[in-house]
Amino acid sequence: MTTPLRGQMMDVPLTVSSLLAHASRFFGTTEIVSKRIEGDVHRYTYRDCEKRAKQLAQGLIALGVEAGDRIGTLAWNGYRHLETYYGTTGFGAVCHTINPRLFPEQIAYIVNHADDRYVMFDATFAALVDVLAPQCPNVQGWIALADDAHLLRLATPVIGYEALVCAQDGDFDWPVLDERLASYLCYTSGTTGNPKGALYSHRSTVLHAYGVSLPNASGLSARDCALPVVPMFHVNAWGIPHAAPLTGAKLVLPGKDLDGKSLYELMEAEHVTYSAGVPTVWLGLLNYVREAGLRFGSLERTVIGGSACPPALLRMFRDDYGVQAIHGWGMTEMSPLGTVSRLNREQTMRSPDEQRRLLEKQGHVIYGVDMKIVGDGGRELPWDGVAFGDLHVRGPWVIDGYFRNDVSPLIDGWFPTGDVATIDHDGFMRITDRSKDLIKSGGEWISSIEIENLAVAHAAVAEAACIACAHPNWKERPLLVVVKRPNADVTPEELLGFYEGKVAKWWIPDDVVFVDELPHTATGKVNKLRLREQFRDHILSSARNIENCPLADRGMAGSGSTPVPE
Ligand code: ADP
Repeated sequence: MTTPLRGQMMDVPLTVSSLLAHASRFFGTTEIVSKRIEGDVHRYTYRDCEKRAKQLAQGLIALGVEAGDRIGTLAWNGYRHLETYYGTTGFGAVCHTINPRLFPEQIAYIVNHADDRYVMFDATFAALVDVLAPQCPNVQGWIALADDAHLLRLATPVIGYEALVCAQDGDFDWPVLDERLASYLCYTSGTTGNPKGALYSHRSTVLHAYGVSLPNASGLSARDCALPVVPMFHVNAWGIPHAAPLTGAKLVLPGKDLDGKSLYELMEAEHVTYSAGVPTVWLGLLNYVREAGLRFGSLERTVIGGSACPPALLRMFRDDYGVQAIHGWGMTEMSPLGTVSRLNREQTMRSPDEQRRLLEKQGHVIYGVDMKIVGDGGRELPWDGVAFGDLHVRGPWVIDGYFRNDVSPLIDGWFPTGDVATIDHDGFMRITDRSKDLIKSGGEWISSIEIENLAVAHAAVAEAACIACAHPNWKERPLLVVVKRPNADVTPEELLGFYEGKVAKWWIPDDVVFVDELPHTATGKVNKLRLREQFRDHILSSARNIENCPLADRGMAGSGSTPVPE
């Protein structure tokens, strides 16, 4: 028997610092442009960025920070935040990005749970820091991401970031780290229960950056100019701050102003070719562009994810503005990228309708992620586009446990995402719902996402959410909550009529309620938990008089046997 033969290749660890070191060495003059909260635009290069990240590392080490210590950040997308990404992880500390849109009590919980040693913050969050500091006694110092001239007066003593950085010379070699050491700590937003920490490793971060950069995913390259609208405090801005230096793409960081006008002007001024963000941001941008009668001068493609992207939005980008809109899916526990909706060669030769149907789904996995759907008892379900079940994933950038939590979330080595999905013959996955948002009517499932997607295709609808409402006969029935477009007029009957012929009759919501705005989570998604609480006592018109229940003539069997239609 021959002995297995080991390869004779260098064992170079995959470390986060290597990404910036590469960009500094080979794309040294490529720009990083930031819209600063001070109001002006700051520009420098990857070479400058690496030098200052090294100065920061020296400064933190001088403060006594050691490998393994967590450093929190409360900051917008900007060059100083980027420096903290690399200036902490570069010597083995852990960069813990915190979502400032969470409630202060949740943030305090997260800072304490992570046991952050220092927290760096943008001036926007100065008042928040004064609220947090007394509740976070283990934080040794609060570092204001500002120069001395912009240091605000706080009750909490603060360290000035520029003073810390400028006191160092940047003559520092990134240490060679074990690639399995922790790099970033990101907490889920915890809409149910306390937030949970996903602790990435250097290896997972670098492999994820490769995955994000693939032509089948973002396809970023040194010819691109990337503007991540998705915040750096939310799942590492979907990996763009790593994929951009890996590929040598120019990076544009938009700061705090994420309204349509500010984004559009920055995109045009910097000739942005690639962007990424949640659907709400794009609705704002497209509304502005449409109302002002503008066109995109350079934008080629954009990734839309974080919550289901309404097909109407994909169509508008492509048909009205010639921008390739790529639907993507992922989650904090997956670093976050899981799937993207991009066609293969053969699929691009199918009918336009068939292509459109595929592109509206959440898409196929990229190399590095494996997925399956399972039904009762963990039975794997077929990839027929009809059977739907719990979506499970695995791969080198998927968590295998939560930070400081001994209970393994895995089932047979797979991570259960909490999403419910179908997978079709092409391997394209479609999310029907988050399992907790599914509506079960008379034993049959109704996809709230599909009902919402149709609602926003109506010209009078700006935003819509579909939730389960208690019903005496069917247990749950769908209620549609709608925000109308400014100056648009539509009646509930008209909206319900819009569904005729588009979905099974019994999927049509029982009621429509108009509201001025929908509640959103800290990551910009509709907060269905809050919405369900808000409408807990709503009595559906169909339930008011059961005798006249319109469901009776909708042929609802309630047997639990009908599959969800594609
Ligand atoms: P949270 O919102 O809980 O902080 P994430 O940002 O990690 O956490 O959210 C991940 C979840 O967002 C997914 O499990 C899924 O339910 C939803 N999601 C993300 N992208 C999409 C998409 N393209 N379509 C539908 N749902 C999506």
